[in-house]
Amino acid sequence: MVPNLYPALERQEVVIHTPRHARSLVELSSTELSNVAGAWTSRAEAAHAEGFQYLQVIVNEGADAGSSLSHTHSQLAWFREQPPAPASERTRAGKCALCELLGDTSMTRELGLAEADTTILALCHPAGRAPYEVLVAPYAHEPEPWGMALEIGLDLAVSCLRPLHRIEGPVPVNLWLHCATFGGDGHWHLELVPRLTVFAGLELGAGVYVNTLAPEQAAEALRGG
Ligand SMILES: [Zn+2]
Ligand SMILES: [Zn+2]
Repeated sequence: MVPNLYPALERQEVVIHTPRHARSLVELSSTELSNVAGAWTSRAEAAHAEGFQYLQVIVNEGADAGSSLSHTHSQLAWFREQPPAPASERTRAGKCALCELLGDTSMTRELGLAEADTTILALCHPAGRAPYEVLVAPYAHEPEPWGMALEIGLDLAVSCLRPLHRIEGPVPVNLWLHCATFGGDGHWHLELVPRLTVFAGLELGAGVYVNTLAPEQAAEALRGG
């Protein structure tokens, strides 16, 4: 008998990003992108109203990123409690890892890619699992993004995906949102992981990721792309 270690996935929804046949978020207009973020927000409100604690937003692009449909879409997984990945994002001292990261101004200057209103930053992840991994987060310790902040955050993430497509072609990517449970504490962010490498035994077994592209080089390439 395997113990039930993880919260059960009780409900899953699909958001189709546009009626046109588009394969990637980069093909969407700014209106379509804000509609996508608006759909995520309204479904988060619905999940909260039905007593769920957490909405996991996921975009998979490309078969190698686990996508079964080529038409751009997202998946919304409803959870009764926060799933383990966002729940584990604290430093060993129990502090917010993102506040520590974004407080390092020399690092954010070196790895920053784009910024909105000096409140939300997109940067190359300083310890990314894969080449060109991007993180989008508010400087302030904001628990939830629902509404305008999510629109801005998604727009910033896509503004980093566009140069990546120009440099590497339409690479498979996973994008997801992490945030607090509804009404809880946390620091919301989007993580964009291009699947340019295969995660093997060392990555999955030890949780140690071999990334052959330094984040400074990735940031320089994306800024120039
Ligand atoms: Zn924080
Ligand atoms: Zn995260």
